[in-house]
Amino acid sequence: MRQKLVMGNWKLNGTKESVNTLVNALLAPVNAATNVEVAVCAPAIFIGTVEALAKGSALQYGSEDCDVHTSGAFTGENSPVMIKEFGCKYAIVGHSERREYHNETNEVVAAKYEAAQAAGLIPVLCIGESLAQFEAGETADVVKTQLKAVIDKCGIKSFEKAVIAYEPIWAIGTGKTATPEIAQNVHAQIRAFLASFDADVAAKVQVLYGGSCNAKTAPELFKQPDIDGGLVGGASLKPADFAAIIEAAK
Ligand code: 13P
Repeated sequence: MRQKLVMGNWKLNGTKESVNTLVNALLAPVNAATNVEVAVCAPAIFIGTVEALAKGSALQYGSEDCDVHTSGAFTGENSPVMIKEFGCKYAIVGHSERREYHNETNEVVAAKYEAAQAAGLIPVLCIGESLAQFEAGETADVVKTQLKAVIDKCGIKSFEKAVIAYEPIWAIGTGKTATPEIAQNVHAQIRAFLASFDADVAAKVQVLYGGSCNAKTAPELFKQPDIDGGLVGGASLKPADFAAIIEAAK
């Protein structure tokens, strides 16, 4: 039985004040959700604040990205070792916004995944197709290629210490959630593809859904057998909405 995981991705949002208000509002619902793990992934500059606010609570947290290097002359980057030092459990890697706006290839994403694991972080590997690819019926091929790049570099067993997030790009921030049937179908294909390498690993890995996951859409999505929770963007910035999503995962 896989544990449900609800993860917020704040993206490039927040102020000192809003982070304080948001995390404080989440502590009670997170501590009460004993059968659901909850995490927030914050802009690097706020991770220390989240660390202080989450102390002693069940709230886990992570980064939205990490560099492939641990230290050195790489101006502007955040090392996975530094991220780990601030108490992060997770590091998102390969979010479609990084793939698109920072030209991150499947190979770069695999290197980040490897670097995150080497630092003791759990990578949250984001995969998913564009609208054009969805309409062309290429979804399965796209997600398999994205997964294969990581399997080739890090091996199938690496997924024992990783989370996958399926995020169809056409559903991100658009209000167009994939229907529970569409999402379940892709999640089942992801698991079947992993099972072709190692059935045990495939059965255990958590696969989250992301893309306009909100208080309304989460209940049906989370009932699907291969959907183990959500990676939530916009709705994770609103305490009441995020608490309702946590509730849906119970
Ligand atoms: P939205 O929930 O705002 O659609 O964003 C999803 C996402 O990209 C989470 O990583």
